[in-house]
Amino acid sequence: MKILVYAEQREGQLRKIAFENIALAKQLGQPFEVAVIGAEIADLAGQLGRYGAEKVVFYKNDSLGNYSPDGYAKILAEAVTKQGADVLLLGATSTGKDLGPRTASILNAAMATDCTHVEVDGDDLKITRPMYAGKVMATIRLSSAVKVVTVRPNVYSAVEAPATAEVQEEAAAVDFTTIVKEIISGAKGKLDVTEADIIVSGGRGMKGPENWHLIEGLAELFGAATGASRAAVDAGWRPHDEQVGQTGKTVSPSLYVAVGISGAIQHLAGMSSSKYIVAINKDPDAPIFKLADYGIVADLFDVVPRMIEEMKA
Ligand SMILES: Cc1cc2nc3c(=O)[nH]c(=O)nc-3n(C[C@H](O)[C@H](O)[C@H](O)COP(=O)(O)OP(=O)(O)OC[C@H]3O[C@@H](n4cnc5c(N)ncnc54)[C@H](O)[C@@H]3O)c2cc1C
Repeated sequence: MKILVYAEQREGQLRKIAFENIALAKQLGQPFEVAVIGAEIADLAGQLGRYGAEKVVFYKNDSLGNYSPDGYAKILAEAVTKQGADVLLLGATSTGKDLGPRTASILNAAMATDCTHVEVDGDDLKITRPMYAGKVMATIRLSSAVKVVTVRPNVYSAVEAPATAEVQEEAAAVDFTTIVKEIISGAKGKLDVTEADIIVSGGRGMKGPENWHLIEGLAELFGAATGASRAAVDAGWRPHDEQVGQTGKTVSPSLYVAVGISGAIQHLAGMSSSKYIVAINKDPDAPIFKLADYGIVADLFDVVPRMIEEMKA
């Protein structure tokens, strides 16, 4: 079984999931290669080598520095065929969620999305993925010859395993109709929730945006990203890119701190695979406590300032 890892880059920077999927490919113990698409590879191959990639094929197209849904899908489908891969691994990132199905459709391949566990079982793959907004975890097999798998970020850890990557460059001439013209990021330098190792999230219990300094204060001390429930986002207290849940982002940090969040099923769908969950809520019957590893039943306006004070001391 040969694996192709798609190394996602944005504005010339590799996403963490590229290294995580290389770690997964190594763990599966099957031969694998890495594909990068873009206009300029610069030191990307060196970085991929540091995480264990031995062969990187760079599909170069000067017009495709930015993501093109149809252009990248055609190139990636061709890469799978050219490189003779049986399995294509992508990240279940915003781009991977778009690129995976498009590529699978060209290849007539079956696809499993947002996978949280992948293992080799004989000459097949056994894959675990959430269904029904995370209410059940399904173990599935894909019956097509080529299989496309998107893996949830932060589930597998990137492992440094220095190798010198052999780099092969391929001209990727392709017709495309759509391209991302500009990426307007939110706050500069803000840690993305999907890539963060620790997240501090606030909900309706925060009462208003004027109290968010408590979430930010705690997040800063933890070196964490800030997240929010949909109630906080819908109220206009927080930007949409912070929303965690079924209609927001899916996260898998090592530590998720939920402050003033009740734990509705749609919120849990986005964070239940966190390694440790801490909940702060004044209602002992809040559903979040059923999932939390540690719970603090208290008024957040009392306990969070005290946590910040203690941590600063
Ligand atoms: C189709 C659909 C998709 C959805 N997608 C999402 C999604 O992606 N993400 C999401 O989050 N939700 C989503 N929702 C909404 C979801 O159902 C809940 O309404 C939402 O998660 C509630 O947000 P919350 O926990 O912040 O607010 P609430 O449910 O109102 O909970 C507030 C909590 O704060 C606690 N609290 C209040 N004051 C204090 C205090 N002083 N100290 C401590 N605790 C306090 C309360 O006890 C309560 O538990 C979706 C709903 C639908 C129907």
